[in-house]
Amino acid sequence: MYKRKRIVIALGGNALGNTLPEQMEAVKTTAKALCDLIEEGHQVVVVHGNGPQVGMINNAMAALSREDKNQPNTPLSVSVAMSQAYIGYDLQNALREELRKRGFMRTPVVTVVTQVRVDPADPAFKNPSKPIGHFMSKEEAQYQEKTYGHIMKEDAGRGYRRVVASPKPVEIVEQDAINSLVDANKIVICCGGGGIPVVLNGDHLKGASAVIDKDFASSLLAQRLDADMLIILTAVEKAAINFGKENEKWLDDLTIEEARQYIAEGHFAAGSMLPKIQAAVDFASSAAGRTALITLLEKARDGIQGKTGTRIHL
Ligand code: ADP
Ligand code: MG
Repeated sequence: MYKRKRIVIALGGNALGNTLPEQMEAVKTTAKALCDLIEEGHQVVVVHGNGPQVGMINNAMAALSREDKNQPNTPLSVSVAMSQAYIGYDLQNALREELRKRGFMRTPVVTVVTQVRVDPADPAFKNPSKPIGHFMSKEEAQYQEKTYGHIMKEDAGRGYRRVVASPKPVEIVEQDAINSLVDANKIVICCGGGGIPVVLNGDHLKGASAVIDKDFASSLLAQRLDADMLIILTAVEKAAINFGKENEKWLDDLTIEEARQYIAEGHFAAGSMLPKIQAAVDFASSAAGRTALITLLEKARDGIQGKTGTRIHL
């Protein structure tokens, strides 16, 4: 029997490209893949990454402060907000157009600027590890450290870069609004770039100098939306053990236990495949009947039908 599913889809970097013109092209292909699922009757909620975009905005804003002394440095949380709006704009437009082509003349697409609460005591704040923005000389890095209190690290012999914390998402501030929109069958784009990281300060939500992993944010979103599936679309069709080695083995079906074992054995690279597998395990283990799938954008439809991808379930 066919069952309409509620699906949270996390789009990886390859769904958006690296530059403004690339993104405008890439979203067309992305919109087609998403509309294939909508056309099959599924309820689709979209999350996207923002690595290159937030880097670009961050650099542009830094250039502004250098040129105009009256413009103070832009907080990272503001750059994330800008990236959500800009990516949402392109995705909204592409989805609207593709939906219309397929006869869905009235299906609204809406982007929610999303704040995600993090814990100020998250150990990630003590060990900022995620590099963002452009490479700098040692002198530039020292200036930035002194002027803005940024933490700078040497990045693999290529120069200095700012590093920020990557704390775990605790709560999606706009969750209720997102649930209402999804319940009312709107196509929602939210939690872009993992969400705008904020910490609770009385009644005030204060932006944090951090980047939340979009894979973890989409897993939390999928749990709170009571989704049937979390689909993480990325640059590989499946996850592998012994990735890149002679005895590489692509994974089809994984139980939670198997996934945890492979994580412990170090098969998934930190910062790329590891957060996806962890996010998938978190979602799939949160309640019965929840399945996580990792695959390529163009394989999403086949993946839902069980034909490809790495699927993780109880
Ligand atoms: P995204 O933008 O989709 O988050 P990432 O580059 O962060 O993409 O993660 C996907 C990448 O993870 C793949 O392109 C692949 O090179 C890498 N990767 C690391 N370990 C594995 C693994 N064990 N199996 C498959 N891919 C892996
Ligand atoms: Mg990634």
